[in-house]
Amino acid sequence: MTNPSSPTFADIIAAAQRIDGHAHRTPVLTSKTVDEELGATVFFKCENFQRMGAFKFRGAFNALSRFDAQQRQAGVVAFSSGNHAQAIALSAKLLGIPATIIMPQDAPAMKIAATKGYGGNVVTYDRYTEDREEIGRRLAQQHGMTLIPPYDHPDVIAGQGTAVKELIEEVGALDALFVCLGGGGLLAGSALSARALSPECKIYGVEPLAGNDGQQSFRSGSIVHIDTPKTIADGAQTQHLGNITFDIIRRTVDDVLTATDEELIDCMRFFAARMKIIVEPTGCLGFAAARQMKTELRGKRVGVVVSGGNVDIARFCELLAN
Ligand SMILES: *Cc1c(COP(=O)(O)O)cnc(C)c1O
Repeated sequence: MTNPSSPTFADIIAAAQRIDGHAHRTPVLTSKTVDEELGATVFFKCENFQRMGAFKFRGAFNALSRFDAQQRQAGVVAFSSGNHAQAIALSAKLLGIPATIIMPQDAPAMKIAATKGYGGNVVTYDRYTEDREEIGRRLAQQHGMTLIPPYDHPDVIAGQGTAVKELIEEVGALDALFVCLGGGGLLAGSALSARALSPECKIYGVEPLAGNDGQQSFRSGSIVHIDTPKTIADGAQTQHLGNITFDIIRRTVDDVLTATDEELIDCMRFFAARMKIIVEPTGCLGFAAARQMKTELRGKRVGVVVSGGNVDIARFCELLAN
């Protein structure tokens, strides 16, 4: 049973046209050291170099580009303390659409400032006594704003799928692909692109071990809800997959794997020391899982999505110091 609002590869092609000239076509990096370690040829799609520092710009810009005149005038509303907030605020600014972002009162001042810096109107709430989804729905209803969720939306998924489309068009067919997994927008979009462009490719989603709801859902066949997991991978602290994302993931993905916080820190250190790039903890999930697999990847062509680079520098140093 396919969800009627489920996107297809044709929607990813259309999204690629909409974001062309607005999103960066991010570089694909390679490392001889990694190839030797895994006995494979590894291609890193570096979304840490995307505008606002993560792939989320792709989905947000694609979704907002599809607004009609009335939606543009009333504006967009989103709730997020992370990369989705900044992606919506920046995309809205570029398209001349007013944006309201609902963020927790105690969100890091730096993140609130970044969202305001992109022109977003920030509304704060108390995360212990108020429900952000309800505030979002109320604002949407009262002011006619359109709510854009971080992952469970066809235009968001289609936009996220453009990164792996670019990757495979640039480097050719892959034998295996590793993608970070939170709510599943990136994995669902990536899997649609990989299935269309490189049908034999094995596709793996990768979650933090402490929050393996996606793995449980994938293996049990229905969406599993968990409490907010304790992990340094703050972009993957989701409590459950979405209905649309899960429907695509169960049809297209080969397995969901996990990585520990220690493995993520090892990858952050490797990326910084050997490849000279700053990757946030969540962005290391794909590489961490590929490194666990060694022998299975021998002689293979492997894609790894590096999803983002937004980590506070003081925090980055603290994590690497231990
Ligand atoms: C949001 C995010 C993810 C997870 O993406 P989903 O579409 O929610 O699965 C992974 N990495 C980074 C850097 C993110 O911002």
